[in-house]
Amino acid sequence: MADADLVTTAAVDTDPDTLTCRQFVELVTDYLEGALSPDERARFETHLLGCDDCPIYLDQMRQTIRTLGALSEEGLAPAAKAELLTIFRDWNRG
Ligand SMILES: [Zn+2]
Repeated sequence: MADADLVTTAAVDTDPDTLTCRQFVELVTDYLEGALSPDERARFETHLLGCDDCPIYLDQMRQTIRTLGALSEEGLAPAAKAELLTIFRDWNRG
């Protein structure tokens, strides 16, 4: 009779502490804009620590944004986001 709260919590069927690489990529631009919630940022950084590829990707993202000068006070321009995601698709090939 005391377990009702646990059942409710377990209704989330994906591990809230684990991002896939795909989810990581989707959050990268928001992360670099400082637009993630504290929860999202924590999960993002947890994935970063446990993944071989995403730290490299994030580093490339940062360099590319600096090169493009794409990050303004209002965040990334939509065109810049599209460009970055295109770069990632190429980078992640194979
Ligand atoms: Zn990853």
